[in-house]
Amino acid sequence: MSAALPTALVDALRATLGTRARPGEPLARHTSYRIGGPADVLVLPATVGELGAVLRLAAAHGVRAILLGGGSNVLVGDAGMRGVVVKLGRAFAAVSWTPHAGGARVRAGAAAQLGRVARAAVARGLAGLEYAEGIPGTVGGALFMNAGAYGGDLARVAVAVDGVDAAGEPRTVADGALTFRYRRAELPAGFVVTAVHFALRADDPAVLRARMAEVRAHRLAAQPQGAPSAGSVFKNPAGDHAGRLIEQAGLKGSRAGRARISERHANFIVNEGGARACDVKALMDVAQRVVWERSGVWLEPEVQLVGSW
Ligand SMILES: Cc1cc2nc3c(=O)[nH]c(=O)nc-3n(C[C@H](O)[C@H](O)[C@H](O)COP(=O)(O)OP(=O)(O)OC[C@H]3O[C@@H](n4cnc5c(N)ncnc54)[C@H](O)[C@@H]3O)c2cc1C
Repeated sequence: MSAALPTALVDALRATLGTRARPGEPLARHTSYRIGGPADVLVLPATVGELGAVLRLAAAHGVRAILLGGGSNVLVGDAGMRGVVVKLGRAFAAVSWTPHAGGARVRAGAAAQLGRVARAAVARGLAGLEYAEGIPGTVGGALFMNAGAYGGDLARVAVAVDGVDAAGEPRTVADGALTFRYRRAELPAGFVVTAVHFALRADDPAVLRARMAEVRAHRLAAQPQGAPSAGSVFKNPAGDHAGRLIEQAGLKGSRAGRARISERHANFIVNEGGARACDVKALMDVAQRVVWERSGVWLEPEVQLVGSW
């Protein structure tokens, strides 16, 4: 609720962005879970200049700026998010393709959908992103999360990242400075990704289409369809699968409110319609405790719990 923010900040954001500064915006509209209370203010900058201005304004008022991409890896608390929630507008979704030795360099805006970029690459006979078929969300969120599946991840194809640093200044992170770990890019604190450069290699489009179709078929067979979720709730512990451990603990189908541990894939907690963040969290707590008691493994969340609870 905007009352928590300095009025001068809300006024300045409105003066800069007009209706693209939205006090009290319900975040359930912006998350794949369809869960989440209101943002103090949600802003949708359309240019790097506007983004820099938003970050500088927030900093000048001592208020945190928090990035939201497609909202497909976050569980936003029922009380919403304090501070300035920044979601990059469509102007950050441009994708450009430049031929490069044995393939192409692709610059994809942070707000572009990762799956769309992956399909466009396959259509052009460019290999490296087929694994991303079925991963929802944006290129910026995928870079931040080092999103991966079926043996691939962003770390293998991302060669540089354009962004804006905490001071609101444009900056590129490349070469040795761009490093990753499991489900996380190591970026400077407060760094906002505005575009990612991928190095993709040329390959037979028919082979790439077949590889992508295989990934799609695997997902359809293994994951729940239709009900809102944020994908895998827990990271896979070394040498094991979180879903296997949760299933072995007898928790498939467990319910809290309108949230449920999926019968199809035990590492998915789905919103059956009207679930609250606290329902999902209650199931996460149960899974962590029971798996710990049965298997001695403490499951680490992959989904990010953000906002106020
Ligand atoms: C059905 C389903 C299947 C999924 N399958 C997979 C899978 O196979 N593999 C996988 O890795 N994930 C999977 N996910 C999780 C999710 O889709 C990925 O983590 C995705 O890359 C997140 O992107 P997003 O844009 O939605 O990010 P968000 O959820 O909006 O944000 C994630 C994090 O990135 C930060 N962030 C977002 N944008 C930026 C930016 N521009 N600059 C800086 N930081 C930013 C946010 O602050 C947040 O900390 C799945 C989710 C669903 C719902």
